[in-house]
Amino acid sequence: RIPNSLHASDIAHSMHPYTNMRAHEQQGPMIITKGDGIHVYDSEGKEYIEGMAGLWSVAVGFSESRIAEAAYKQMLELPYYHSFAHKAHAPSIKLAEKLVEMTPEGLNRVFFTNSGSEANDTVIKMVWFMNNALGRPEKKKFLARNKGYHGITIASGSLTGLPGNHKDFDLPAIPVIHLTCPHHWKWAEPGESEAEFTARLLKEAEDTILSEGPETIAAFIGEPVMGAGGVMTPPEGYWPGIAELCKKYDILLVSDEVINGFGRLGTPFGCQKYGFEPDILVTSKQLTSSYMPLAAILVNDKVYNPIADNTEKLGTFGHGFTGSGHPVACAAGLENLAIIEEKDLMGNAARMEAPFQAMVQSFADHPLVGEARGTGLIAGLELVADKASKTAFSPIGKVAAAVARAAQDHGLICRSVYETVALCPPLIINESDIERIGQRLGTALDEGHAWAKA
Ligand code: PLP
Repeated sequence: RIPNSLHASDIAHSMHPYTNMRAHEQQGPMIITKGDGIHVYDSEGKEYIEGMAGLWSVAVGFSESRIAEAAYKQMLELPYYHSFAHKAHAPSIKLAEKLVEMTPEGLNRVFFTNSGSEANDTVIKMVWFMNNALGRPEKKKFLARNKGYHGITIASGSLTGLPGNHKDFDLPAIPVIHLTCPHHWKWAEPGESEAEFTARLLKEAEDTILSEGPETIAAFIGEPVMGAGGVMTPPEGYWPGIAELCKKYDILLVSDEVINGFGRLGTPFGCQKYGFEPDILVTSKQLTSSYMPLAAILVNDKVYNPIADNTEKLGTFGHGFTGSGHPVACAAGLENLAIIEEKDLMGNAARMEAPFQAMVQSFADHPLVGEARGTGLIAGLELVADKASKTAFSPIGKVAAAVARAAQDHGLICRSVYETVALCPPLIINESDIERIGQRLGTALDEGHAWAKA
């Protein structure tokens, strides 16, 4: 009964996230056995450039022994303790201090969770708790966007604006309104300029606030650059306009920087790139380079004070996880951030933006590519069956998946999200890595093109 290989055992016993299970039973897993810098290796010894940094997350690359040593040292000293009910330990205290120092001014308080989804669930509960404390319990609705990604739990999955995450799970389960995706190439009316598109989206947001009633809208949540929905950069003026509306109608602004944070866009945080000041900032992924699971929510005094002042009235803030601020994860996070600073990886991301985006743009004229887009070290190539009409392939995702498979055959891991091929490499990449990514991606696009035509 016991399978005699990892491969067979995986097929027999494992349920993989985001995987077609019957197809997996046929094809089996690609087992990754080790990592080195921007590379990972499979069980056959084949080397791949990890062009997605795992799941948009391994900033420092796959072989930073300093993080392993920091985690080991912490495990020997104090492998676990919690931070419930006035308990504390040094790693979470120091990491909270570090995050307050690194993030934009005014974000003074930190709450830790294990994942980005839990972080966004926590945001929802904080915002509701705050409004209950302020005596306005009807101010509960969230504004989010189509194609936004904020996680997969019942509540954070409700904020996510991808129909595939809703339809089989009876979501949304909380009051959330999804606005138009701020992606000019795809969602602009024919002939609509970027400025007109921005103005239309801001009008849509304001009309929605007014028709729902500002007294019912608690918060607006968005990723500065949308990631898992297909890497969409916002049109000029969008974020400052949204921030102004939030201020006008007393709506909290939440910047979900689970992918964008810690230099991904060429600035430390995405809100800095697009010029807005969030009340709440959510981070994860590059916080520890995913060496350990960890997420952090930062809030300003406007959010913190009502929660703190009113816990007397409402009781304690009844929320927290066994692993909130886990000392080993926080020790790994502190070491990861030290490496990011010492090696100036945020600076490297800014310096590599031009060659990386030039490589991405070199595919703009490829017959499969409708739009080549990105900023910093994140990019997407949206594939089309017809360039002039921007018609997608049917079924959506078929050709992008074929290109991602071909890239993998040629030693490049990228990710297909719907009809977009995404890239999000570790922040340590250099120009020759970018050149190799470009060569492998070019071959994969040509093979995908031949396959789509066949
Ligand atoms: N928010 C954003 C912007 C994300 O990209 C993700 C994951 O990709 C999440 C939240 C959810 O994080 P997790 O997968 O750690 O639950």
